Amino acid sequence: MHCPFCQAEDTKVIDSRLVADGDQIRRRRECTSCGERFTTFETAELVIPRVIKSDGTRQPFDEGKLRHGMLHALQKRPVSLDRIDAALLHILHRLRATGEREVKSRLIGELVMEELKKLDSVAYVRFASVYRDFQDIDAFRAEIDSLGARGHGGDGGAGPAA
Ligand SMILES: [Zn+2]
Repeated sequence: MHCPFCQAEDTKVIDSRLVADGDQIRRRRECTSCGERFTTFETAELVIPRVIKSDGTRQPFDEGKLRHGMLHALQKRPVSLDRIDAALLHILHRLRATGEREVKSRLIGELVMEELKKLDSVAYVRFASVYRDFQDIDAFRAEIDSLGARGHGGDGGAGPAA
């Protein structure tokens, strides 16, 4: 990072230690140009990004709404709540891992579809047909076909589909 004293681009870390019970890293840096020393603190950014809707408006991320949407798609499907919650956690984790402060609602939809695809193909199709604006019936059918092609594992078997 830049030196706050002379704006030189190169500074080196001369000491690094965990503080605040390991939640923070304190780094002592020295400017290779002017020799000044300064300290930086590094913490994990665990905030879930805000959502950019398709009309450009921003909203806080709503976990309840996400859960509701998934439960709705999974209604009367043989998928346990444990697995649904695990999928939700996975989505939250991936949203945090983007490191973005704002993400498009479309990205969240794609993440949900990815998880549903793994959980239950019927729920996936339910969600996708509502969420994704399929341009035409062929695009939708291609998506369904691609689902059928999955689930055989990587065994390369040429047997008939179950
Ligand atoms: Zn400097």
